[in-house]
Amino acid sequence: MTERTLAIIKPDAVAKGVAGQILSRIERAGFTILAARLTRLSREQAGGFYAVHRERPFYASLCAFMTEGPCLVLVLEGDDAIRRWRDLMGATDPAQAAPGTIRRDFASSIEANAVHGSDSPASAAFEIPYFFSALDLCPR
Ligand code: GDP
Repeated sequence: MTERTLAIIKPDAVAKGVAGQILSRIERAGFTILAARLTRLSREQAGGFYAVHRERPFYASLCAFMTEGPCLVLVLEGDDAIRRWRDLMGATDPAQAAPGTIRRDFASSIEANAVHGSDSPASAAFEIPYFFSALDLCPR
C-alpha cells in the first residue's frame, strides 16, 4: 500500500555533512521525496514534535539536541513507506543497528542517531502536517 512518512535528517547528520549521502540512500531505495525543508527547530517546536516522550528521562536532552543546528525534514512516499524507511534507518541505538543501516553507519549515540522516521500511520498523520501543509507536497 502506498504510504507517506515523515523523515528527519537530524542536526548531528547535517553538521557532519552526511545529509547528501543519506538522501542518496533514500533515492536509491526508491522513495519519492514529496517535500523537503532545512530548518532549525525552536525549543517549542522540538518539544511539541516529541511531546509523546515528555515523561521520558531523556526528553529535555532530546529537545535540546534537536535545536542544536539545522535539520532536513522530508516527506517520503512509497509502497510500505513507514516500515521500509524504519528498516533503512536501523535500530534507535546505533550499537544495536544492523550493518548497512543509516544509524549504524552515521549515528553517534542513541540520542544523536542521525535520522527520524514516523513509527506508525497514526504518527505519520500527526508528524507530516506538523511541518508541511498540503500545498507543500509535490505528488507525482
Ligand atoms: P525512534 O523511533 O527509533 O526514533 O526512537 P524513540 O521514539 O524511542 O525515541 C525518539 C528519539 O529519542 C530517538 O530517536 C533518540 O534520538 C532519542 N532517544 C531514544 N532513547 C533514548 C535514550 O535512552 N537516551 C537518550 N538520550 N535519547 C534517546
